[in-house]
Amino acid sequence: MYKAFLIKYAEIGVKGKNRDLFEEALVRQIKYALKRCEGEFRVRRTRGRIYIDVLSDDYDYEETIDNLKTVCGVSAICPMVQLEDEGFDKLCESAVSYMDEHYSDKNITFKVNARRARKNYPVESMEINASVGEKILQAFPEIRVDVHNPDVMLYIEVREHIYIYSIEIPGPGGMPVGTNGKAMLLLSGGIDSPVAGFMVAKRGVKIDAVYFHAPPYTSERAKQKVVDLAKLVARYSGPIYLHVINFTEIQLAIYEKCPHDELTIIMRRYMMKIAEDIAKKTECLGLITGESIGQVASQTIQSLAVTNEVCTLPVFRPCIGLDKQEIVEISEKIGTYETSILPFEDCCTIFVAKHPVTKPNLAVIKRHEENLKDCIDEMMQRALDTEELIVVEAQ
Ligand code: ATP
Ligand code: MG
Repeated sequence: MYKAFLIKYAEIGVKGKNRDLFEEALVRQIKYALKRCEGEFRVRRTRGRIYIDVLSDDYDYEETIDNLKTVCGVSAICPMVQLEDEGFDKLCESAVSYMDEHYSDKNITFKVNARRARKNYPVESMEINASVGEKILQAFPEIRVDVHNPDVMLYIEVREHIYIYSIEIPGPGGMPVGTNGKAMLLLSGGIDSPVAGFMVAKRGVKIDAVYFHAPPYTSERAKQKVVDLAKLVARYSGPIYLHVINFTEIQLAIYEKCPHDELTIIMRRYMMKIAEDIAKKTECLGLITGESIGQVASQTIQSLAVTNEVCTLPVFRPCIGLDKQEIVEISEKIGTYETSILPFEDCCTIFVAKHPVTKPNLAVIKRHEENLKDCIDEMMQRALDTEELIVVEAQ
């Protein structure tokens, strides 16, 4: 029934040259989303609007909407009925059937909002509004007009074709990926880091990711789970370069040489260092983690300060002020939750102490890290040299 879609986006702050960049990025991401859909589509920009035409006879409406809902920067998707120009009477008739098919309960208010983009169309916008409105009132006795606050805003657009629409399906909002640089996500198999990646991607930032594993203490399936999560995040962010780092040697060294209640915090400092190193080499302008204040011992404000101390790039922690339940709700909405809760060990859970420090002291931690000074530089280099790079496409 719908052969075209109008894509709406929030225009605040996108003027002039920025607007071009914004729209180009949006079109690119829309095309990326449509590649996952059956059917053939054309995406066009005309005079500050983005349209999708369905070119094939067959396509899956639900699948198309689901995928368009992953495009950051989209504020709404409007499925449109497309008519050929077969005269004004025919247009009125089609508007009446549109209302009939879309609103079985006619005890509603409406307003017609016509826009005549093709100026050689013989009927002016105001006249379209009035005449179509009248025809609808005649056809359905219960329906009423409300020009200020209608239940249904019936849009009619006269262009090369004529479009009728009234439904707006909300998109994720935000800005198109590619308009705000790139950042490196520390992606684990948990609930929080995929959400963190999504939240930053939603602001237009391209995402790369790093995952630390510790074979044979962590399994191939745990790694696969992270790849699967990256595929889900990539629906929003576009393709992700996932750097898989072997962290076993470093973890064992810390385990052997440092106090066990400080294992996690020291380990996290080395993760951040390595992530930052990769970030700098790949033109990422910041790091992203799923940390939230107070969630676990390594995320008290003191622990976060000690972890942060090794970084020179800004560290973005979009979940910082969210409760676990709020993070869970976002992960359900973006579709990562079911994968995140699969029960595969992650590399932090194997070497955890029974009573980790909750208020680490930076000077003390640094003193204990001295125990690693003979081997750590070499080990970090080896971890970097043996990275496995996986290019993850959206699922
Ligand atoms: P998540 O649900 O994201 O796993 P978490 O509550 O388990 O988070 P931690 O294990 O303390 O929290 O990790 C905090 C953050 O550190 C994660 O959100 C993630 O950004 C990063 N991180 C933790 N483990 C790894 C790992 N193995 N590889 C990459 N990043 C990691
Ligand atoms: Mg985790």
